[in-house]
Order: sequence, then structure tokens, then C-alpha cells
Amino acid sequence: MVPISLYFHIPFCAAKCAYCDFASYPNREGEWARYFHALWAELESWKGALAGYEAVTLFFGGGTPTLVDAGYIAETVGRARALLPFAGDVEITMEGNPGTLAPDKLEACRRAGVNRLSLGAQSFDDGLLRSLGRIHTARQIGEAVALAREAGFVNLNLDLMYALPGQDMEKWRDTLERAVALGVEHLSAYSLIVEEGTPMAARVASGEAVVPGDDAVNAMQREAVARLAAAGYGRYEISNYARPGFECRHNRVYWERGEYLGLGCAAHSLFGGCRFANPDGLEAYLAGGRREGFQRLGRRDAMEETLMLSTRMTRGLDLAGWRRAFGEDFARGREDALARLEKAGYAEVRDGFFRLTARGLEVQNAVVVELMEE
Ligand code: SF4
Repeated sequence: MVPISLYFHIPFCAAKCAYCDFASYPNREGEWARYFHALWAELESWKGALAGYEAVTLFFGGGTPTLVDAGYIAETVGRARALLPFAGDVEITMEGNPGTLAPDKLEACRRAGVNRLSLGAQSFDDGLLRSLGRIHTARQIGEAVALAREAGFVNLNLDLMYALPGQDMEKWRDTLERAVALGVEHLSAYSLIVEEGTPMAARVASGEAVVPGDDAVNAMQREAVARLAAAGYGRYEISNYARPGFECRHNRVYWERGEYLGLGCAAHSLFGGCRFANPDGLEAYLAGGRREGFQRLGRRDAMEETLMLSTRMTRGLDLAGWRRAFGEDFARGREDALARLEKAGYAEVRDGFFRLTARGLEVQNAVVVELMEE
């Protein structure tokens, strides 16, 4: 059986956060049924192509999958299961917002097979949560974790954000402490990206909001690495930390360039050596738009992607895997760049892997560019 991962995009939210440029829409309850029927039809359309495949992970992302009726999620899992076999240890993740959970909803999703819950906590500072446009308070994050535990979830993630306007080191430390104190299995710590066209970008442009400088942002990231390591969370990717055995398998498929199908609006796929994506907009998706920007990956594309994605992980790039995939040594033609990076303390080769050091991960993009230019 060939392993595959399935991603389902659920583009509905209770409200739009100030920094968000994802495909997510508030106040569209009237479209939920139509959307899920389109999603199920899209899933069905893959039936022939999925012969011989086995689903190793499913991921409901958004948007806010915990906003919609649990029946939609359960039906989607059931339809996927009818289409292709699931691995015995299949990981099924659902993203959620702490302001949209209810015991019956969580229990229904758990019964349907969802076994990992990823909650957008972002901060434990109510003032920062308000300025981000989040619909929940810090207290509700703790309540959400308790609800999830009661519903039987033993694999929980909290997403956290740093580099926020108005956030200093003290507030960031407090958020890290309170997240750790909840005892979740996995934590993601993302730096705010000010996306063009969002209310946050307008605030930053007008001077109403001031994002911390590079030095402060790097210090916050280092604080996360140190604090979470001390609490038993291993950093396994630039922004992701887990207790042993709780690394997100779905996201690892992306970083290791495994095959995945993205279903729903704005969902991306890597399948049969090709990348393609559904249209970003809900209307375009509901109007039947599918599989756009079709790109068959050549050797150079695959090399670039392998380098870019594998060096995000602390495990690094598998040198034997590179040789198998591309028929040459990774070091070939890169001797000078590798020597420079090792000397500068940005990278190392150890136990058959090329990996970036903590310093190297802070400048990962620049390192990759340097290695591709050789
Ligand atoms: S909850 Fe997430 S997807 Fe929805 S608007 Fe906020 S950041 Fe965007």
C-alpha cells in the first residue's frame, strides 16, 4: 500500500482575526451544507486514482473546523474511510478555536475517529488576544483543554504566536509558562507575519501597531526553544515542539515531501509528482473550480523543495535519501558553501544527515538560497 495524507480545508470562522489572510469566512452558516456536499463530491472524484493507497493521516484545517456541526466532520471521515483503507494507527487532526468547543461536539468528533486536536491559543494575554481579534479569552484556552481531555483526546496541540505588537519578553514568557502548565503534548510557536491587505497591516502601516524588531523577535524564539526544551518538548521543526512520540505526522508528510491530496477551497496537493491547488476563494470553489496551477516537478524543483523542506526539520536532510532520489552526493558542487556554513556555525553533517544548527534555523531561507546557487 502506498501511504497518502488527506487535507480537508474548512473555510468557516466565527469572526475574522486582524492578522489572518487564510481562506476563511465568517457569517456563512447558510453555505455549510453546500460546501460539504462539494467537498464530498471532490473526494469521490479521486476514487479511481486512490486505488492502492492507504491513508496514514487526515487533517481538518481552516478556518475553524470546530465551528461547524460535528456531523459534517464525522461524515467526511466516514466517506474517506469508504474510499480507501486507513492505516491502523491513522492520525486524524482537527484544528479548532477555544471559543467554539462544546462537549457533545468534541465527543462526536472523537467517536468519528478524530484523535488529535490542534487549538489556536495564540496568547495567554487577554489584551493581545483582543488586539488580534481572537474570539476567546486566555481562560477559555484552559477550559478548552479540559473539555478536550474529558472528551478523550490524549494528543493536543496549542498554537502560540510571538513578535506581536505590544508583546514584550515578559508577556511571551508568561504565555509559554501557561501553555506548558496545561500539559499538552505538542506546541507550535509561530512568529507573526504581517500579511498585506489585513487590518493588522493597515495598523502597522499607520504606526498604530509596532511590531518588535529583529533582535527582540530572535530573542523570543530562543526563549521558546530553551523554555520548551526544559519542559520536555523537543524542537523537531523550526516552529514545532513535541513530547517524545507526539510529533505531528501529517505535517511531517509535507516536510518530507510525501504524497498528499488537499480537498476544499485553497487546498494544495502533491500527488503523482505534481503540485496543484484548488482556487482560494469560496465562491470559485463552489462554482466548481478545481486543480489549478498544475506543475509537474522537474529534478531541480524536487531538489529545491527537498532542501527547503528538510532543513526546516532539526533532523535535517537525509544524505542517503538524496543520493537515492537524485543519483549524486548532496555535497557535489556544494563543497565551498558547506564548508562556509559549517565554519560559521550554521550547519553540520552528522550521522548521515545535513542539518542546520539553532543559529542556522534563524536564517534558514538564506542558507537554502546559498546552497541552491552553488
Ligand atoms: S480563527 Fe484562524 S482561520 Fe479563522 S480568522 Fe482567525 S486566524 Fe484566520
